[in-house]
Amino acid sequence: MTTQPANHYKYCPRCAARGVFDAQNKAFKCHNCGFHFFLNSSAAVTAIIFNEKGKLLMVRRGIEPHYGALDFPGGFVDPGESAEQAILREIKEELNLEPVKVKYWASFPNEYLYSGTIVHTIDLVFCCKVDDFSAIKHLDDVMGFEFVDVCSVDVKQLPFLSVQNIVNTLQKQKNLANI
Ligand SMILES: [Zn+2]
Repeated sequence: MTTQPANHYKYCPRCAARGVFDAQNKAFKCHNCGFHFFLNSSAAVTAIIFNEKGKLLMVRRGIEPHYGALDFPGGFVDPGESAEQAILREIKEELNLEPVKVKYWASFPNEYLYSGTIVHTIDLVFCCKVDDFSAIKHLDDVMGFEFVDVCSVDVKQLPFLSVQNIVNTLQKQKNLANI
């Protein structure tokens, strides 16, 4: 079985008749009851945090997929939540840190395999300023954290396309203090 959503969503969630995906794999349609469902990208937030020495804060994933891989702090935006609220919540939940400032930087599309199906996300990246790291600890779905030299990160070892692209972009920046 392939990982495309059309192979996993076959029956209408309203009337249980068999439905079909369009050719782009973006929308499910039931011809029996008219139910129409769009498979949009899920919004996720990602934090770029540098310490006073210019080292980048990354975390070790404590959950699948890619258990143990280097990643950024962040997660999905909850329904009804703003992206700004989500990034503050995730940083508190995963690292017990409270940024004094968050600034939207850029977005990076991502897809990953979850429960056997490709899930599409759009990762909204925020540059977060943290003045006090003394309370830092790894919590929730994070099994550790590291302050790394951006240029020394091996992009090929990173778990997701978006994480690879974020680090690639950071490595090309002439002055990281300007992002
Ligand atoms: Zn239906």
